[in-house]
Amino acid sequence: MLTDALFHALFDIPLPRILLSANGPNFKIICDNDAFKDFSNSSVSSGKSVWEVFNSGNVGDESLTLFKNILIQSVENKQKSFIADFKYQASAVEKPESYWKLEIMPVKSNDDKFQYILVTIIGQSDKKKEDTRQYPELSSIISHLPIGLCILSGKEMILEVVNNGMLNLWDRNDSILGLPLLEFMPEITDQIFPKLLQQVYASGIPFSNKGAAVELMVGGRLQTVYMDFSYTPLQDEKGVTNRILVMADDVTDRILGMRREQQLTEELKSINEILAASNLELTENESRFRFLLNALPQQVWTANSAGLLDYVNQVVCNDFGLDVEVVIGHGWQEFVHPDDLEEALARWTIALETGCEYLTEFRLQLSDGKYKWFLARAVPLIENDKILLWIGTNTNIDLQKSNEQRKDEFISIASHELKTPLTSIKAFNQLIQRKNSEHTLDGFILKSAQNITRLERLIKDLLDVTKINAGQITYEMESFDFKKMLAESIESVQLTAPEHDIILESAVDVIYLGDQYRLEQVVHNILTNAVKYSPNGKRIIVKSVIEQERVIVSFQDFGIGIAEKDRKRLFERYYRVEENIMQFEGLGLGLFISSEILKRHKGNFWIESEPGKGSTFYFRLPLYN
Ligand code: ADP
Repeated sequence: MLTDALFHALFDIPLPRILLSANGPNFKIICDNDAFKDFSNSSVSSGKSVWEVFNSGNVGDESLTLFKNILIQSVENKQKSFIADFKYQASAVEKPESYWKLEIMPVKSNDDKFQYILVTIIGQSDKKKEDTRQYPELSSIISHLPIGLCILSGKEMILEVVNNGMLNLWDRNDSILGLPLLEFMPEITDQIFPKLLQQVYASGIPFSNKGAAVELMVGGRLQTVYMDFSYTPLQDEKGVTNRILVMADDVTDRILGMRREQQLTEELKSINEILAASNLELTENESRFRFLLNALPQQVWTANSAGLLDYVNQVVCNDFGLDVEVVIGHGWQEFVHPDDLEEALARWTIALETGCEYLTEFRLQLSDGKYKWFLARAVPLIENDKILLWIGTNTNIDLQKSNEQRKDEFISIASHELKTPLTSIKAFNQLIQRKNSEHTLDGFILKSAQNITRLERLIKDLLDVTKINAGQITYEMESFDFKKMLAESIESVQLTAPEHDIILESAVDVIYLGDQYRLEQVVHNILTNAVKYSPNGKRIIVKSVIEQERVIVSFQDFGIGIAEKDRKRLFERYYRVEENIMQFEGLGLGLFISSEILKRHKGNFWIESEPGKGSTFYFRLPLYN
C-alpha cells in the first residue's frame, strides 16, 4: 500500500504524472498531479478512464494505438516502457501539437500483484520538427544540404524529418512526412535496407556503405540508384536509440561513370591486348615472310607504289655481291644490260601507270661481271583500290635461254643436214631423167640410194631422241652372238667408208642377252664417228675382250682427237665440239643415243684421246644383268 509520504514523493514532482488502474481496457485514472492537470488542462481526471483524457481528439492515431498496446504489454511484461514520440495536442494555446516522451511503469501492490501503472510525461520529445522550429536557420540549412537527409523515428521508421535532397533522391514530395518508411517506400520492402535500419535501431551501432544499389520507384518506374549512405542511431537522454539519422548521397552518375570508365579501360585493355597480339603476329608474319622470301631460290624484291626499290632478298645480294642497302641505293637499272634497259624501263613505266603485271626479260650483270638472262615479273599488292607495293621476282633463265639458243642452232643444223642429202637425191634424179647410159644410170641410182639411207638415219636419230625424251624407246632383249653382231656392224660401215680400213683385231665369242638392233646402232655410231673424225687416219682398230664377266669393246681411230674439256660432255644431247662444227656435219645426237642404249643394258662409256693423234672409245656391258 502506498503510504502518504511515498505518494507525495511520487506525485509531488514537476513532471505530469498519473496513476492508472492496471485493469484494461479502461485503465482508470486513480490520481494525477498538478503538473498533469496543467499538462492536460483538466482539473478533474481521477476516476476517469485514461481514454477520456487521451483520445483521438488530442492524440495522434498512432500514438494512441501505441499507448494502448504499451499499457497492456507493460502489465503483462511487468516492465517499464517508454513512448518516445507521443503525439499530443494539448488544449492550451501555448502548448500546440507536440511530441512527448512517456514513461509507463507497472507498479506492484502489497500482494505482489501489478495493479497500477504509473504514467509520467518525462519531457518533450526532441523531434527534429520541434528542434527546427527552435532553430529555423538549421531547417533551411538542412533543406538545402546537397545530400539527402532524414530522420526515421521508432521501430516503424516514421519519417520525422526529411530534406529536399532526400525527397529529390527518392522522387517523392513532403506528403510522406509522418509516414512509416515502408508505407511511402514499399519497393524497398524486400531489399536489405529495412533490415539494416532495424539492426542499427536495435544495436545502436551506426552503419554506412558506399555505392549501394537501391531499387527505387523513380519517374514511375523501378530504377537502380546508387547511393553512399549512413545510418546513425540517435539516442534519447537515457541513451536509448529511438531514431535513426539517414544521410544519403546519389552517386549513380559517379558509379555509372566509373563503371563506364572501368568498362572502357577493360575494352581498351582488351583492344591493346588484341593489338599487341596482332602486332606480334604481324612481326611474326613479317619475319616469317622475310624468311620465306630469303628462302626462295630466286631474286625477290619489292618496290613502293612509285616504283622505287625498297627490299631485296638475300639471293639478290649474293648474286650482285653487295649488301641490301647498297643494292636498294643503286636501284635495279644499274645492273641491267644497256641493250635491255630501254625495253625494261618502258614496261616498268606502263606497269606502274596501269597497275598491270610487269613482265620482261633482261640480262643482269652479276658479281663475276658476267651477264645472265633473267625473267623479271612483278605484281602490285592492292588494298582499298590503292597500290601498296610491288612484289617482284627475277628468275634466272640463262640456262633456258642458252638451251633455246642451242635448239635454234640445232634446228638450223638439222635443216641443213636434212637438206644436203635431199639436194643430192634431187640432183641424181635430174641426171637419171636425162637418160644417160645404163652404166652411169646405175651409179646415179646408187648415189641417190646412199643419200636416201643417210636421210633415213638422220630422221631415225631425230625420232630416237624424241622417244628417249619421252621414255618411249622399247627394248627387245634376246640372246644373240655378240661377235657376229660386231663383225656385221663393222662390215656395213666399211661399205660406206671405202677410204678407211676397219680392223676387228680381237673378238670374244660370247652369247649376249640384249637388244641386238640397238647395240648395232651403238657400234654403228661409234664407227661412223671414227671414220668421220679421222679424215687422214685410215685405220680403225676394233677389239673386244671379257673382263670380270663384262664384255669390253674398244674402237681406236687415228683422227683429230678430243680435248679434255669436251670429253665429258660428248654424251650430252646436241653436244658438238665447237671447233669442228664447220668442218664436220652432224647433229650431236649419235653419242647421246648410244649412251642411253648402253645405260639400258647397265653398261657405260669412256674415252681415251689425244688431240691430233686420235681417240679410243670404250664401252662395257655386264654379261649377266
Ligand atoms: P655428231 O653427229 O656431231 O657426230 P655425236 O653425238 O656422234 O654427234 O658426236 C658428238 C661430238 O663428239 C661430235 O660432234 C664430235 O665433235 C665428237 N666426236 C665423236 N666421235 C669422235 C671421234 N672419234 N673423234 C673426234 N671427235 C669425236
